[in-house]
Amino acid sequence: MSARILDGTKIANDIRTEVAAEVKAMASAGVRPGLAVVLVGHNPASEIYVRGKVKASEEIGVYSEQHTPPETTTTAALLALVHALNQRDEIDGILVQLPLPAHVDAKKVLMAVDPAKDVDGFHPVNVGFLSTQRDGLVPCTPAGIIEILKRGNIPIAGQEAVVVGRSDIVGKPAAMLLLNANATVTVCHSKTGDLPGVCRRADILVAAIGRAGMITRDFVKPGATVIDVGMNKVTDTAEFHRLFAGHLTNHARREQNFLSRGSTLVGDVHPEVIEVAGALTPVPGGVGPLTIAMLMYNTVKAAKMRRGSHVADLASP
Ligand code: NAP
Repeated sequence: MSARILDGTKIANDIRTEVAAEVKAMASAGVRPGLAVVLVGHNPASEIYVRGKVKASEEIGVYSEQHTPPETTTTAALLALVHALNQRDEIDGILVQLPLPAHVDAKKVLMAVDPAKDVDGFHPVNVGFLSTQRDGLVPCTPAGIIEILKRGNIPIAGQEAVVVGRSDIVGKPAAMLLLNANATVTVCHSKTGDLPGVCRRADILVAAIGRAGMITRDFVKPGATVIDVGMNKVTDTAEFHRLFAGHLTNHARREQNFLSRGSTLVGDVHPEVIEVAGALTPVPGGVGPLTIAMLMYNTVKAAKMRRGSHVADLASP
């Protein structure tokens, strides 16, 4: 058996097209949603992510601007910047790219973002809205997981869902969204006993761990849906072979890229899981593309909510 591949790139493109149509309709009413991105210092990964977010905004017609304080910036300076963005009516979404430098109080900065403009969905007010099933801004990656399941025709209600990882950014909100969609949810972490046994109960297994290929076939009930959130850069040749030996016929292009670039992007799910799972998100091309698509969705949603109009829910359950 080989798992059905859940094509995140296609789903993300569909969502972007839908959001672009909303932006066009808003433009005819004289409204242009606006996104401000704050990027501190020169973290190469953050620079790539921010470039992607700004490019996506341009493509769908959302106004965007970047603020790039130096690495030496202070908590006070960032608070002043966030307060200024909170005040500007043409800015609907504020995104502070993480991680912030160690000397900055990141929680304080995120807490300063107006919850109505919190397009990352990290503010405790939005966390509270999510856990009490009120309409708010939902973190982008977990929201993208739900879109993949719904648009991939994977039933959620009544299913056993296991989420490995309990971060505020992915694991916890993903678990809350699955619970809100009527799954029976278990959240696992580094202290969970018999992790493979707990994972094998899952009809839907979400891996948000940050460990390349940790979820092997022993963790997966045959036929389960496996959502791989992990994004791990593998540079070590021995690790590459540990992951892909025996699967290289399916990964010939990946091997070529690894040999030429010296690295490859790998999820938390081992390639062998394709032989056991019923459906699977690939890495790259699974959850990753959804994150930016859902950021665009949240920016438009924030613009509409601030103006008192409603935004249609995405895929129906
Ligand atoms: P994180 O904050 O480091 O959290 C990792 C979680 O995994 C923690 O809850 C940790 O448990 C758990 N964990 C670590 N080792 C474990 C083990 N051996 N057994 C069981 N649980 C274990 O990471 P994150 O921000 O949630 O991100 C997780 C992964 O998703 C990373 O690879 C990240 O790059 C990726 N990611 C992808 C996207 C995307 O757009 N696709 C977006 C965000 C993140 P404890 O709580 O006990 O420490």
